[in-house]
Amino acid sequence: MRIDVVTIFPELFEPFRSTALLGAACAQGIVDLRSHDLRDWTRDRHRTVDDTPYGGGPGMVMKPEPLVEAIEALAGAKGTADARTARVLLLSPQGRRLDQAWVEELAQESHLVLVCGRYEGVDQRVIDLAVDEEVSIGDYVLAGGELPALVLIEAVTRLLPGVMGNPASAETESFQHGLLEGPQYTRPAIYRGHEVPAVLRSGDHAAVARWRAERAQETTTRRRPDLLGAGRGEETR
Ligand code: SAM
Repeated sequence: MRIDVVTIFPELFEPFRSTALLGAACAQGIVDLRSHDLRDWTRDRHRTVDDTPYGGGPGMVMKPEPLVEAIEALAGAKGTADARTARVLLLSPQGRRLDQAWVEELAQESHLVLVCGRYEGVDQRVIDLAVDEEVSIGDYVLAGGELPALVLIEAVTRLLPGVMGNPASAETESFQHGLLEGPQYTRPAIYRGHEVPAVLRSGDHAAVARWRAERAQETTTRRRPDLLGAGRGEETR
């Protein structure tokens, strides 16, 4: 999968391109992650990407020209089915909330272009003219779209074939089947008086599977009943 990121801080992506799971996916050529400096699409001496808002108010707004030209250079023009070669997502707190189902859908794409806002956000015409969808990573406001873009990139990358050592691990993970995953344990069998449930050490695979399914149901009911469509539970994270 190719992922192009448009940002005024392309260097923020460097450590992620060479570290851990994403680093391995890039090294193996499973992901081709390229971060582009938005200022490369400016035309003035100061490489300006922002301007004051029409109507007044605090802060600066990202200008439409460099963003639209960058997106069109990387993804083709919006609204022209032949010309558009990638799905263009703007990271925005006003976007649709990212969840695992959407991540799975995005993992089917061959080319994503991620656009990172800064300042007070981007001129609306960028969205109207060049963006396919707006993506939020949660109901809070960050200073820029770079961390949200990295969240999306890591969530998508780990689903790509060949990235996870054991593809079965994605199968049992939280949200994969509408449930949270239950508790997990490793050695030692007893730690500070807390013992690993005997069933997990029994070697009885059917009993282990049953126990895990029950715990997943129980954890989801207690912490995230909304996932079961059951209203609020006694505990939320
Ligand atoms: N003025 C905007 C508003 O009220 O909706 C917020 C702008 S925010 C300070 C600057 C940039 O950070 C946004 O353009 C977006 O790219 C990014 N951003 C901030 N919070 C985000 C979130 N929860 N999800 C995705 N992107 C976010």
